[in-house]
Amino acid sequence: MSARPTGPAAGSHGPDATAAAASASPAELRRRTEEFLAAHPPADTGRTDFLRARFDAGLAWVHYPEGLGGLGAPRALQAVVDTALEAAGAPDNDPRRIGIGLGMAAPTLLAYGTEEQKRRFLRPLWVGEEVWCQLFSEPGAGSDLAALGTRAVREEATGDWIVDGQKVWTSSAHVARWAILVARTDPALPKHQGITYFLCDMTDPGVEVRPLRQITGEAEFNEVFLTGVRIPDAHRLGAVGQGWEVARTTLMNERVSIGGMRLPREGGMIAPVAALWRERPELRTHALHERLLELWVDAEVARLTAERLRQQLAAGRPGPEGSGMKLSFARLNQEISGLEVELRGEEGLLYDDWTMRRPDLVDFTGRGAGYRYLRSKGNSIEGGTSEILLNIVAERVLGLPAEPRDDKDLPWKDLAR
Ligand SMILES: Cc1cc2nc3c(=O)[nH]c(=O)nc-3n(C[C@H](O)[C@H](O)[C@H](O)COP(=O)(O)OP(=O)(O)OC[C@H]3O[C@@H](n4cnc5c(N)ncnc54)[C@H](O)[C@@H]3O)c2cc1C
Repeated sequence: MSARPTGPAAGSHGPDATAAAASASPAELRRRTEEFLAAHPPADTGRTDFLRARFDAGLAWVHYPEGLGGLGAPRALQAVVDTALEAAGAPDNDPRRIGIGLGMAAPTLLAYGTEEQKRRFLRPLWVGEEVWCQLFSEPGAGSDLAALGTRAVREEATGDWIVDGQKVWTSSAHVARWAILVARTDPALPKHQGITYFLCDMTDPGVEVRPLRQITGEAEFNEVFLTGVRIPDAHRLGAVGQGWEVARTTLMNERVSIGGMRLPREGGMIAPVAALWRERPELRTHALHERLLELWVDAEVARLTAERLRQQLAAGRPGPEGSGMKLSFARLNQEISGLEVELRGEEGLLYDDWTMRRPDLVDFTGRGAGYRYLRSKGNSIEGGTSEILLNIVAERVLGLPAEPRDDKDLPWKDLAR
């Protein structure tokens, strides 16, 4: 079984490091942001109008090209804009709700999309008017994603692609308007070569979304059945057969977006445990104190490492460091939420609500300790399992020998399934 990939994607290109980038300074960006705020006072501007105008002014993601929500400026300068807008009480685009679009679809569209695709999709994606989901995993093709069997067959008369297959664990499919989708277009080629990447309209009548209930009781992800789904060739991303390379860009960005969220000091999962420790001295023991301190330090190290990773990204492209980050994030979330449940004793065994819900975001801190404990189990699976990420670190960072991959050169149709 071969691992979901990482490493720089050939053919992808990062933000435009041109003259425009060189001329954008923090002072210049601050001035632009102030001008923007004067023209669009948050108090008098509707949320969507404000966000659309922000995109059009190039202040959405400053490192994207002009006309596509950015200014071609260094990515690190985004903080200048965000800080000024936040201080002015401006609405944000709710990145947690649209995380797959922002963290995965957008960078892939930027790297491989045609001009038309970028113009069509990036603005509603960033504003949050169109939510995205990721149709990658299948029963039998998770860690070994390249083994996927969903078929896309080209219709000679129209050039459209007709897609049939099943996807699984699709977060947010129930609220998504668009999906990034990988499908097999040539079963006679080895598994990594016969794959093509598409943008799939989730409102197509051939798309059926069925909830999958999780250990937490809620159904945040889904099974998705694709039956005769018609995708126009204009919604193909990258060349026919280039899907694996395109998917690598998505997956590398996925790990960074899961593990590398921007947090304040003592933010995220450590926050409720530290608060509990301060508020409830009767729960404390020396041994728990030692563990809390260790985890607090680890959480701070992870937070600063994520910051460094983001700065590194500003200068280039995501690499295997994103896998290390995601690994630590999963381990820490599980250990911290475990400590919280333990600290609460019997009370920690209570669960807040088993009602089946269809949430449109994962809200770790908005629910109880039991929820955090159960939901964090998925952290070491989603976006690539910890075992796979360890393989990646072993091979790409430590330079250890690669796993044997005997099936790499066999035609997909001849693989044992
Ligand atoms: C909360 C959550 C949300 C998700 N959201 C999405 C989504 O939106 N879209 C999407 O496409 N997918 C999504 N996934 C799916 C996720 O990416 C897959 O579950 C994951 O890649 C693992 O694949 P699998 O479930 O098929 O497990 P398998 O690949 O069958 O793995 C089973 C076990 O074997 C281990 N293993 C497999 N191969 C190796 C190896 N070579 N070396 C060592 N150990 C190995 C794995 O680490 C794992 O422990 C989500 C999953 C979760 C839990």
